[in-house]
Amino acid sequence: MPILEDLGVLDQVESAGFPRKYGATMLWGSDPEPWSWYFRETNRTWPHAYQVWRPTFDKILLDNARSLGVQVREECAVTGPMREGDRVTGVEHRKPDGTTASIRADWVIDASGQSAILGRSLDLRQWDDYFRNMAVYAYFKGSRRLPDHDAANNIFIESYEHGWTWNIPLSGDTTSVGIVVDSELGQRGISEYGVEDYYNAQIRAADHTAHMVADARMIAIPRVTKDWSYTSERMIGDGWILVGDAACFIDPLFSSGVHLAMMSAVMAAAYIRAVSADPSMRQPAARLYQQLYRKEYEHFRELARLFYASNRTVESYFWEARRIIGDDDQASRRSFVRAVAGQAPRGYERAVLDKGHLPVDLTDAIHKIESGRTKRSCDFDHIPIHDATPRLAEGVRLERGLTFAEDQFQWSALLITPDRPEGAPISQLVAALVSCIDSHHTTTQILTRLTSGIESPDQKQLASEAIVSALRILHTDGAVEF
Ligand SMILES: Cc1cc2nc3c(=O)[nH]c(=O)nc-3n(C[C@H](O)[C@H](O)[C@H](O)COP(=O)(O)OP(=O)(O)OC[C@H]3O[C@@H](n4cnc5c(N)ncnc54)[C@H](O)[C@@H]3O)c2cc1C
Repeated sequence: MPILEDLGVLDQVESAGFPRKYGATMLWGSDPEPWSWYFRETNRTWPHAYQVWRPTFDKILLDNARSLGVQVREECAVTGPMREGDRVTGVEHRKPDGTTASIRADWVIDASGQSAILGRSLDLRQWDDYFRNMAVYAYFKGSRRLPDHDAANNIFIESYEHGWTWNIPLSGDTTSVGIVVDSELGQRGISEYGVEDYYNAQIRAADHTAHMVADARMIAIPRVTKDWSYTSERMIGDGWILVGDAACFIDPLFSSGVHLAMMSAVMAAAYIRAVSADPSMRQPAARLYQQLYRKEYEHFRELARLFYASNRTVESYFWEARRIIGDDDQASRRSFVRAVAGQAPRGYERAVLDKGHLPVDLTDAIHKIESGRTKRSCDFDHIPIHDATPRLAEGVRLERGLTFAEDQFQWSALLITPDRPEGAPISQLVAALVSCIDSHHTTTQILTRLTSGIESPDQKQLASEAIVSALRILHTDGAVEF
């Protein structure tokens, strides 16, 4: 939603008539009845998203780009990249009249989705062995909506014996209904029964979904998609950038695909602006682009892995086979645990995980972080803060590094901690505070130093309160001790 607002297309998206999506409803976990979660639980600014019909949505974005001066060439098929050594210098394409042509470019942004023109040509794709799933989906007219008015436009996810189903209400009376099953078993079923019969049999096996489409009319033959989860060895190179599905794709369980595609597109645009203005940014900004993109991808990957591993509503080969998630990704698991432990208690991930049967070590890790934070936050109230001498915890230091904030790559202060070795961006005030913490000076001395240039007593008071609040946060996070 914020990206659509920045692009200036929010009004058009609103008036296109897409249903407003307020959350998700699931039949999954330990609860035998469907349960719902709403965006408003954690986001007051954007309590809804939209269930978009992609041809209309994509056209709004394309026309917007054109109106801002982009030369758009429709009905042209890119046949491959032009290269000079390792550098990508443009693309070859076939025009609507069948003739071919080439376009040179300073930068080629591959946004070709699963076609992944550059990813395939440069052999960058890395398949994810864990998600061996496939989807079969169709569109219906006249499907029943969820009974609860508030949830009527929610995505509905139902776990059933052979996998899970989705039911997404779209504009008008259309609904997208899909099944996600084991890839090998699904392909066997399709070759034995044909796509339509196999799909219908799976829908019948999911009680709630079957009830929702019982009187509905399928309006097109079901489609199959097997290219499941992958990422790319590199996402930026000399003259090229991968965005969206051209870079990576994760199981569509949490409807994260369009979010990841738009987020990466915003970063790719910022990357080109940054390196055009300051070529020395090329390497560090490329590293950060890949780091941030992978982090977001890994977050959804971890959540999806836990979702598959912790369902107890049904017993079957599909769910049993997915319970063993292994521990091959300790770094991304740690990062996921940190993100979830720092989340509001009603966050989406929390809601999903609370309904499942999580591995004990994971619950323990989340609780350990949370109880440590709660204890340090309570302790802070008993510290004689003005006379106390703060010190940085072991492994905590200040560094200058590249960050991505407010849609820009920029140099700023980073707080390096054992938990966040990559560094967390911090404000100038916090950076000034951290640089004064030396195990010798008391809080009062630090406050005097940091507020010495402020004349107005009121302003001085406000600044002191802000600094003490920052100390409290740093102490709660474990970065500062007394
Ligand atoms: C079964 C399934 C269910 C999903 N459900 C959801 C969901 O509920 N919510 C969600 O957010 N995401 C969902 N996704 C993911 C989502 O569809 C993608 O992540 C998203 O579309 C990626 O956007 P993109 O712009 O990178 O690629 P795309 O949307 O695929 O766009 C790629 C574009 O490139 C064009 N193109 C391709 N090759 C060429 C070529 N050679 N020359 C010229 N043009 C070319 C294509 O025509 C297309 O317009 C789902 C995916 C699958 C497979």
